[in-house]
Amino acid sequence: MPKKIIIFFGPPGSGKGTQAELLAKKTGWKKISTGDLFRAEIAAKTVLGQQVEKYLKAGKLVPDKLTASLVEKNLRQKASGFIFDGFPRNRRQLKDLLDLFKKIIKTSEAIYALEVAVSDGEARERLGQRRLCACGLVYHLVYNPPISAGVCDICGGKLFMRNDDQPKVIAGRLKIYHRQSALLLDYWRKQGRLIKIDGEQAIKKIHEEIMEKLKSLKLV
Ligand code: ADP
Ligand code: ADP
Ligand code: ZN
Repeated sequence: MPKKIIIFFGPPGSGKGTQAELLAKKTGWKKISTGDLFRAEIAAKTVLGQQVEKYLKAGKLVPDKLTASLVEKNLRQKASGFIFDGFPRNRRQLKDLLDLFKKIIKTSEAIYALEVAVSDGEARERLGQRRLCACGLVYHLVYNPPISAGVCDICGGKLFMRNDDQPKVIAGRLKIYHRQSALLLDYWRKQGRLIKIDGEQAIKKIHEEIMEKLKSLKLV
């Protein structure tokens, strides 16, 4: 059986992490979110965490080699599918990913890119009101609020803001995304493997649309 691979694209704040998580829960496929993995390394104060902390703080991309080795480690897990969130982010990383597929997965044929499209204005607004829990859950003060203010519904942890979710850093991250994403999206479009979703809808509606598209492609 070929493994299923879905690669999420979208600017920071588009909701791709939220959708990747919903899809992972529904399918049992493993989610590889490079941002989450880096933040976990930083929190655990590992060597890798210390190497990458300054990049995340500044909203700059972590060097490609470090990123690819983290992805490789995660791609070696057993799974019937993988969901990428936040990788690849440039031409070099696309090449690294295609090489890793050849080396590790081999039988994969079902690779699709899924673009969650939102305007920069909407992305900025969402990031300003994003709140996180250390357990990995993501909230929005208005659109996806916790049951009791400031506290995680599932684990009771105290919610916090990401330190790169401030207007100046957000502007830089959006700029990097627009500079790099066009050629990646072009690549998947030319392969006939790009699914585009309107990200300016309710979270549940977007999830349903994604499931419908994947069903019509016989991926789920
Ligand atoms: P990304 O991974 O693309 O940076 P997230 O999934 O973290 O984005 O979502 C950014 C913020 O917007 C979070 O606070 C999240 O709860 C919220 N959010 C996600 N999807 C939607 C949506 N469809 N409508 C409104 N808010 C959303
Ligand atoms: P966003 O909400 O911007 O999509 P992520 O959680 O995906 O945020 O990424 C946060 C930060 O982690 C990035 O600004 C960057 O420093 C680092 N990072 C995540 N993915 C990558 C990647 N593929 N290559 C390099 N750096 C990355
Ligand atoms: Zn929690």
